[in-house]
Amino acid sequence: MDRQAASNRNTRAVQIGALKVGGGNPVVVQSMCATRTIDIDQTVAQAHQLADAGAGIVRIAMDSDKEIPAIKEIRAQTKGITLSVDLQENYRIADRVAPYVDKIRYNPGHLHHIEKSKTIEQKVKWIVEVARENNLAIRIGVNCGSVAPAFLERYPGDQLGAIVESAAYHCDLMDELGFTRFVVSLKDSEPQKVIDANRRFAERRPDVPIHLGVTEAGLPPDGIIKTRIAFEKLLAQGIGETIRVSLTLPNERKHEEVVVGHKIIDDVRSGRFISVPEFGKGLNIISCPSCSRVENERFVELAQQVKVLSEYAAKYRITIAVMGCRVNGPGETDDADLGLWCGPTTVNLKKKDKKIGFFTYDDVLPRLKIELDKLIALRAAAN
Ligand code: SF4
Repeated sequence: MDRQAASNRNTRAVQIGALKVGGGNPVVVQSMCATRTIDIDQTVAQAHQLADAGAGIVRIAMDSDKEIPAIKEIRAQTKGITLSVDLQENYRIADRVAPYVDKIRYNPGHLHHIEKSKTIEQKVKWIVEVARENNLAIRIGVNCGSVAPAFLERYPGDQLGAIVESAAYHCDLMDELGFTRFVVSLKDSEPQKVIDANRRFAERRPDVPIHLGVTEAGLPPDGIIKTRIAFEKLLAQGIGETIRVSLTLPNERKHEEVVVGHKIIDDVRSGRFISVPEFGKGLNIISCPSCSRVENERFVELAQQVKVLSEYAAKYRITIAVMGCRVNGPGETDDADLGLWCGPTTVNLKKKDKKIGFFTYDDVLPRLKIELDKLIALRAAAN
């Protein structure tokens, strides 16, 4: 089936394994394993599940040296699948992971944490050398929840400016290094920010293929609607050479991300667009798509329970964020009215960036209800 969306951009083509992204090639749908990478059998099964559903690229998250033997074996059992690795906050494992994947993603906002004596330029140069030596592509993956501090300082109060300039700066570094085999993503959980950031970047760098994503879109159907709002606008303008739909789903349904991605592309190509004028005016639940960092499999169930529990607050403009791990959870919940991030046995509950406390997976729900009632009472008193 021809799934190519209308494209009036003229990006370069980037070779990723056997695939080409950009350069007028069909838009590639990709997805990510939510299994623990050290669980080889589960991760191999999920990579096949995603590829069988039509994922052109399957991403796997890696954090530490301990996962390197696993990725070697996963590669051996997924020949024929184009694999990308997400280096998350540990870019230093890139050289040991590289022989087993086709692409590496680094986050410009996560380079400053480690090897503080080195400059960002030195770190990027090393990543590019690793990619060159191993015949890999790179994704520069910028995320609103983890913007490099230097760019937040340079663009105070202008988060959009900070992420676009951060991405453009890393493109400049690639240019200086003579490396062209890269794509860029600029993600946020708000569809309008995704639209604005990607439009600005596309104008700035019309040559660079873009990977589209609405991060932490959450549970279906709202997560699908949020994603469609952004993707429809951008794809219809020819912006987006590869897409990933991020939904909070149990592992056995993870391939639905890929099915939804293809459906959006088909609909845009056929001129079918959704209309949801009231969407986004009331309660907003954001939740991450989970990945290998989730330490308690009850995360997805918890996100579903939060959705059911908060249905009575549907008309209030309140954001609740539910995140799967303690690495990104604390930062990614800072902007939410109420935030929950999951640890191995407890869930941390926050109000904006203030900690309320940590609770068991059962006890956190009644406490969330108390905090939600308080917020609603405050909103009602203010009106
Ligand atoms: S918040 Fe944590 S568990 Fe969720 S997708 Fe991000 S890194 Fe993975």
